[in-house]
Amino acid sequence: MTTDGARLAVIGGGPGGYPAAFLAADMGMQVTLIDEEPNPGGVCLYRGCIPSKALLHVAALIEEAELAKDWGVAFGEPTIDLDRLRGFKQGVVDRLTGGLGQLSGQHKVDYVQGRATFLDAHTLSIAPAEGSDAPPTVEFDHAIIATGSAPTRIPALDIGSPRVLDSTSALELERVPETLLVVGGGYIGLELGSVYAALGSRVTVVEMTGGLLPGVDRDLVRQLQRRLRRSFAAIRLETTVLGMEDTGEGVRARIAGNEGEPEEHVFDQVLIAVGRRPNSDALGLERTDVQVDARGFIEADAQRRTAEPHIFAVGDVAGEPMLAHKASHEATVAVDAIAGKAAAWAERTVPAVIYTDPEIAWAGLTETDATDQRIEVEVSTMPWAASGRATTLGRNDGATKLVLEPHTHRVLGVGIVGAGAGELISEAVLAIEMGAVAQDLELTIHPHPTLSETLMHAAAAFYGRSPDYIGRRRR
Ligand code: FAD
Ligand code: NAD
Repeated sequence: MTTDGARLAVIGGGPGGYPAAFLAADMGMQVTLIDEEPNPGGVCLYRGCIPSKALLHVAALIEEAELAKDWGVAFGEPTIDLDRLRGFKQGVVDRLTGGLGQLSGQHKVDYVQGRATFLDAHTLSIAPAEGSDAPPTVEFDHAIIATGSAPTRIPALDIGSPRVLDSTSALELERVPETLLVVGGGYIGLELGSVYAALGSRVTVVEMTGGLLPGVDRDLVRQLQRRLRRSFAAIRLETTVLGMEDTGEGVRARIAGNEGEPEEHVFDQVLIAVGRRPNSDALGLERTDVQVDARGFIEADAQRRTAEPHIFAVGDVAGEPMLAHKASHEATVAVDAIAGKAAAWAERTVPAVIYTDPEIAWAGLTETDATDQRIEVEVSTMPWAASGRATTLGRNDGATKLVLEPHTHRVLGVGIVGAGAGELISEAVLAIEMGAVAQDLELTIHPHPTLSETLMHAAAAFYGRSPDYIGRRRR
């Protein structure tokens, strides 16, 4: 099958859309990439992964400077120049999105700045962004929908007050509130809560379920929670917010736990971070055969092909996990499928990282999933108290855990909590993808002293052969 010159329309310029557009153009397709922003980047670059990680880097620096007091190095209290901090964050965003704008031209992608809706299964109508000279319509042979997701709203808390933030407005960092209520103890609540806490806000987190980061292994979360209990003013589990009102001085929130009467507290600002929903509702999909499920995710097969065989869907709009690297990987699958290659989504794992301090990262089967799905596993954990490198960093608050298949000792999953866990997890992803067994990790020489050694030691401890740690195997 030749796709040379075939017209491909990609709707949405995030980590799902732009890699799809660039790859397809390189394969000879005639590609139009449509997004309202001036350059590609999507939520991830403009108001998600990148600005949040720039601010989390600053938060980690503040934390580390505080830690240094114990080592005899005192920097004094930080003073925050909010304009410069915002400038740093914006500079990072502008550099990366500007770079993608240039790359778009180099890949010979036609970038259209506007909002697309389907007129029929082969035509898009374009509402041009202000000042752009977008064409009124774009016709296509194939389309990839990569329109991403938006914050979930809770109607009872939608009070139209500028004091109530979502992740987008929280990242604008207009000011540092004295007190911040964070509704939702998931990825965004804990990451952005950590940023504001480091900048000086007294942060209260309320989480509906019985634990922070539902679904993540409890032993990993416990280490993080111990530290957050020091940096946050309060963490309230099994708690929700029933209603809120802006008093002019702050937001009065009615908070209900699982016992006792609801309480009222006033906060300077509130961040709502209770999940995200797919952007599939205003696309005109009803004028095509594309189907969405009950939660609004576009239904797509292993090639990311929708019920309309020439239309594909990737990224947040096509299902969980809503992560940038999953979107980008799906993009290559969809483009290869359009090009007629035998491509399919067959990955063993999509790794996840929560960029708090300490970070939590995992890949493959978690212990929680193994228990829920009654999969028999063996587990070996290496606490970072036994890691030389962690000790030199003053960061023994970590652990590396292997989830192994009994008898074969194949690595089914890895969970890590600790400083820089996000950088360590890729070795685990490779091990899982390659079908490695614990002995492969044990026999692979890791440089000393590094945190990556904890993977090797967790494997050695599994066999009772770690020089640094007498491990315990758990079934
Ligand atoms: P998006 O990045 O959402 O891009 C979709 C694009 O489509 C947007 O630019 C949108 O404007 C455009 N669009 C929508 N509708 C139309 C239309 N009709 N016409 C034209 N354009 C349209 N993930 C990670 O992996 N790591 C992280 O560290 C991380 N941090 C995050 C932090 C925050 C605060 C948030 C909110 C998210 C974070 N995520 C992170 C999630 C990540 O941003 C998403 O998983 C990722 O952006 C999804 O990519 P996508 O291409 O599917 O969609
Ligand atoms: P989330 O699903 O991670 O967490 C939402 C939390 O809110 C959950 O713990 C949930 O139990 C809780 N909750 C729901 N309703 C509530 C209520 N009424 N009161 C109190 N708590 C309530 O969602 P998020 O934090 O909004 O993030 C959305 C998605 O964005 C993530 O799931 C992830 O896919 C992506 N993201 C990824 C990263 C990263 O990769 N580091 C960072 C940020 C966001």
